[in-house]
Amino acid sequence: GMPVEHRSTRSTCCYCGVGCGVVIHSERDARGRESITAVEGDPDHPANAGRLCSKGLALADSARSLHGRVLRPELRTHRDQPRRPVDWGLALDTVADRLSRIVERHGPDAVAFYLSGQLLTEDYYVFNKLAKGLLRTNNIDTNSRLCMSSAVTGYRLAFGADGPPTCYDDLDHAKTVLFAGSNAAYAHPVLFRRLEDAKARDPGVRWIVVDPRRTDTAAMADLHLAIQPGTDVALLNGMLHHLVWEGLLDQDFIDAHTTGFAGLKALLRDYTPRMSAEICGVPAQDLVTAAEWFGRSPAALSLYCMGLNQSAHGTDKNLALIHLHLATRQLGRPGAGPFSLTGQPNAMGGREVGGMATMLAAHREIGDAAHRAEVETLWRLAPGTLSPTPGLAAVDLFEALHGGKVKAVWIACTNPAHSMPDIGRVREALQRAEYVIVQEAFAGTDTVPFADALLPAATWGEKDGTVTNSERRISRVRAAVAPPGQARPDWWIAREVARRIEARLATPGAAPLFEADAPEPIFDEHRALTVGRDLDIGGLDYARLERDGPQQWPFRAGHATGEARRYADGLFATPDARARFHVTPYKPVAEQTSARFPLRLLTGRLRDQWHGMSRTGRVPQLFAHSPEPGLRMHPDDAARRGLAAGTLVRIASKRGELVLPLELSDEVGSGTVFAAMHWSGQHLSSGGINEVSLPSVDARSRQPELKHAAVRVERA
Ligand code: SF4
Repeated sequence: GMPVEHRSTRSTCCYCGVGCGVVIHSERDARGRESITAVEGDPDHPANAGRLCSKGLALADSARSLHGRVLRPELRTHRDQPRRPVDWGLALDTVADRLSRIVERHGPDAVAFYLSGQLLTEDYYVFNKLAKGLLRTNNIDTNSRLCMSSAVTGYRLAFGADGPPTCYDDLDHAKTVLFAGSNAAYAHPVLFRRLEDAKARDPGVRWIVVDPRRTDTAAMADLHLAIQPGTDVALLNGMLHHLVWEGLLDQDFIDAHTTGFAGLKALLRDYTPRMSAEICGVPAQDLVTAAEWFGRSPAALSLYCMGLNQSAHGTDKNLALIHLHLATRQLGRPGAGPFSLTGQPNAMGGREVGGMATMLAAHREIGDAAHRAEVETLWRLAPGTLSPTPGLAAVDLFEALHGGKVKAVWIACTNPAHSMPDIGRVREALQRAEYVIVQEAFAGTDTVPFADALLPAATWGEKDGTVTNSERRISRVRAAVAPPGQARPDWWIAREVARRIEARLATPGAAPLFEADAPEPIFDEHRALTVGRDLDIGGLDYARLERDGPQQWPFRAGHATGEARRYADGLFATPDARARFHVTPYKPVAEQTSARFPLRLLTGRLRDQWHGMSRTGRVPQLFAHSPEPGLRMHPDDAARRGLAAGTLVRIASKRGELVLPLELSDEVGSGTVFAAMHWSGQHLSSGGINEVSLPSVDARSRQPELKHAAVRVERA
């Protein structure tokens, strides 16, 4: 029909942790049908000042069609039957009933939630309260466990609190930029443009890129350290050894503001540049050059991402990097600091509300009785309600589902049958589960076939709330159009089920837990929990965000702005206000190559795709840059095996296999192959590269080593 009304709505891009502001243009026709017609960058948003990358620019195209959307709730009563459409009332009653009965029969920890860094803070908040406050289980983890949890443990162990100390303005001021395990050119394109601009303005700016692969980021480096996979700690220890040797430390800062340096220094004796460079497979002179550029820089900034985090030693990798900054006081001033680039749009917000198995609301600890008591008071729960036992982190959660300890799982806004390591095992776990609830916007994901209850979720452009980006900045996400069909916001679905369970469990006189009826009052509840904490946002509400735009935390009551940089005064969030050095010995990758599996598989992103492609896969032009799935191999390795470009090859590990066409590329060294993480069952006959990845996790962060596995490649 003829459009009768045009609207523009400010919101935030739903893809990466840059958190770009967008303006959504939409229209409503004479019959009341709403549609998104165009999306542009918001010139007033501090994260992007109007810029968008290819993915953000295609947002309107991804939202245009309802094809492939989940439009109504569906249930099945037996695994061998198809699901049938039902109304919301029956769907919600059934889900509440099944969960309640499983808790009654097997206890609260027989239920688990698996959520997403793409949920909004308000969605996360309600789910977290449902799991921990009402059902009394801490089994609520998210795909952020696959993304940022080693960055969290790194920050907490070194600084005493989660969260990067840096901000995006630092990109303009840094004179040495150390990219470690980050292909920012693809994964954080708008920040990358800003770095390119800064380098163009000041040719003295130097880029060091640490990456086993010659990515598009590495191709632009002044110094590319193409280390052997997983040897980052040896490199960073070697760099610090050189700085110690050359006296390039800030000894006054170390003495006044840190503890633990003596222990680290003793370890560093073994990490001479020559020894370290040998472990890493790079020239010792390059390692020394990197250390010199870092140590003598007026402002050194490290940007790091999945290459450090998705590792069985991710915590040590993060710590070894932070050590460089602490030892030289390269933090707390413009252009300096360790800066973890968040993968997902709202992994930060999820941590802020405590929506993970290992934390409580507002960066509190599950194991801390005083913290539990604070949350119990704020949620008006009886003392002792919150479980003192940490819940199951992602890999452990699906393993417990496989073993039958967890009976039911509620999956929202994520696709574990594609994104978890060793997905063959995850599929088995989902088959064995007593009850699987999948809350989704898109019907074609690899996880949807396992759903006993499929709940239609509203998605980007259709829902309201907030997200927090990589620089701790909270932005509003706003609905431009109504959700299609029966789709509902994620917080609403969680709350409706919660209210039904609450009614069943009702203890006389207990305060209702789920009164908040919209994103704004949910945010207000969250804010109350943050007061007095490191991420205090006592001064921030929807009215302020409306009036003054996106704001960084902390944003305390009575303050006019948030805090751009943390720890500028040298006072950290530990009990004695000192930062901590740790002993970080290098340990090799979890799975060594062998005669049967002689190649090292690396995984990563494509420029124009996002995660499992459920959204970007809807836009034909986003396939132009990388049209086909493929396995990249060095031409010498291919020649030795008699393989030509385009040959279908079988990639096998101890766990599983998949078939991909071969691409020849010298971006990987001999002995190493690369595959993108995105391609899934929608595009392949298998579930994607996680058929072969391994579920080894970092002991402290529980983050799996998705970046590296030992594989064999042969003609299919
Ligand atoms: Fe969206 Fe990230 Fe691209 Fe910005 S850089 S438009 S947040 S995908």
